[in-house]
Amino acid sequence: MKNIKDYNLEELKEELEQIGEKKYRAEQIFKWLYIDKVKEFDEMTNLSLELRNKLKENYSMCNYKILRKQEASDGTKKYLFDVLDGNAIESVLMQYHHGKTICVSSQIGCKMGCKFCASTGIQFVRNLTAGEIVEQIIAVEQDINDKISNVVFMGIGEPFDNYDNVMRAIRIINHQKGLNIGARHISISTSGLVPRIYDFANEELQCTLSISLHSSNNEKRSSMMPVNNRYPIEELMQACKDYIAKTNKRISFEYALAKDNNDNLDDAKELVHLLKGMLCHVNLIPINKIENGSYTKSTNENIIKFRDYLNEKGIVATIRRELGSDIDAACGQLRRKNLKNQEE
Ligand code: SF4
Repeated sequence: MKNIKDYNLEELKEELEQIGEKKYRAEQIFKWLYIDKVKEFDEMTNLSLELRNKLKENYSMCNYKILRKQEASDGTKKYLFDVLDGNAIESVLMQYHHGKTICVSSQIGCKMGCKFCASTGIQFVRNLTAGEIVEQIIAVEQDINDKISNVVFMGIGEPFDNYDNVMRAIRIINHQKGLNIGARHISISTSGLVPRIYDFANEELQCTLSISLHSSNNEKRSSMMPVNNRYPIEELMQACKDYIAKTNKRISFEYALAKDNNDNLDDAKELVHLLKGMLCHVNLIPINKIENGSYTKSTNENIIKFRDYLNEKGIVATIRRELGSDIDAACGQLRRKNLKNQEE
């Protein structure tokens, strides 16, 4: 059965027309789904009984069940959702002074194999549909009985490897009659799928683009991120420069600092050389230690030195606050733990 949340507003209008209904009904349905967040078609009381029955026969509503929820002392909440086909996905809710941010997953598993990522041991199963991405936000808003103000695509999966569904989800999240979260409050992070960066530049969306960079050196970056063998740093940086020229938007570079790997002064110098003159920001991330992982967190002293060096050289860099460190908040960890528990 088709998931009614897989359609953006324009697509839903067409879909309704095909089942002999008036297009304006799509706006009514959108309001019920994304503003009132009802869980049953029967709650859509301004639709005729006949239309409600038709919807019930043809579409599902994809209401997630929370399989597991963990809450950290800083208020970070990590959810594991049952996506109704035997698979589970996770989302993390973080509290910042400027509001509530959700980190959503875009795929079940991931193909990219970044060595520092907790999802690496989790096999790729499938892409999430647009509705399955959007439902993470709805389910968390229902659980906390509050509105989420920011969405980051930094959970499990490479969003640009599921490009069409992620773009469709963004349009539902951003639409005034959808979840109505401003595009400037939506951030999408890629490990560096160069052709999709060019596609994204043409979307005319005001979302923030983040690039998981983690090293400015091809050899080192390839050892951390196999995607670098396909799209080496030179190609990636050219795509970033072209993106900035086309959109006039700043790119955020993510740089996870791992002890004795990419956190010394020479690494910082290479990074300055790479980013000099670009409209960008560097987000330094104290790496999360993962079970059986080969990377450990850099020392606080090194992290601060690294940031200060970049700032001195005119590259704006900040250190990301560690949230949820007492609840396995690195992507993939809750899901991995749940799978392990099931196996035991
Ligand atoms: S860091 Fe992101 S892109 Fe890399 S393996 Fe993990 S989920 Fe995939």
